[in-house]
Amino acid sequence: MRIAIDGPSGAGKSYLAKAIAAHYGFVHVDTGALYRALGLYALRSGLTKEGIAEICDDLDKIEVSLMFAKEGQRVLLCGEDVTDLIRTPEISMYASAVSAVPAVRAFLLETQRSIARTHSVVMDGRDIGTVILPDAEVKIFLVADDRARAARRLAELEAKGVKTSLEDVLADMAKRDENDRTRATAPAVAAEDAVLLDNSGLSREQTVAAAIKIIEEKRTT
Ligand code: C5P
Repeated sequence: MRIAIDGPSGAGKSYLAKAIAAHYGFVHVDTGALYRALGLYALRSGLTKEGIAEICDDLDKIEVSLMFAKEGQRVLLCGEDVTDLIRTPEISMYASAVSAVPAVRAFLLETQRSIARTHSVVMDGRDIGTVILPDAEVKIFLVADDRARAARRLAELEAKGVKTSLEDVLADMAKRDENDRTRATAPAVAAEDAVLLDNSGLSREQTVAAAIKIIEEKRTT
């Protein structure tokens, strides 16, 4: 069973995917972490966002992999567990820049597909329903209005001790969404057969319930 959850940043994909995975006993794959790990690599290598394509020269020596522990997914960059280093606003922007490089997307494709070959998955990202798992049994495109998404992202960042403002989060999110939506390779758009779920006015519990209803309807048809 493959469940694809795509949508813009801050729509609550990770929370939803985690809850669905727990409900069905599937593996939750947060694919953004792969791009974030490569964003961290680019930052550490001194690449600028404008010169980000230079990361291609290093792809044959970079290793990125995911591990699935009880407490959730860990991401390894060349053997180092970088899970706790990749959630900053700076890495978000680097991840978005690196994700527009076609060779990077090709580099991460098999890592993502191979997990779905051996496990039932709930995979969240931007191109899961369109590119990574075009045959997924269920595809959900999760959206919420800008303010709701920015407020949630701000709360997440504050909980991690990152100091920022709603205005900065809104501006960063708008820039990142624009990059993701308009890039030439695998733009972040809904698959034709995805179900659109707008959770602007919904609580987390209501969002999970709505998604499970969508999944159950798909499973029985
Ligand atoms: O989902 P998250 O915010 O962690 O993703 C970070 C960035 O990685 C996104 O802004 C997007 O540019 C990129 N990404 C992607 N395709 C995915 C997952 C994430 O391009 N499947």
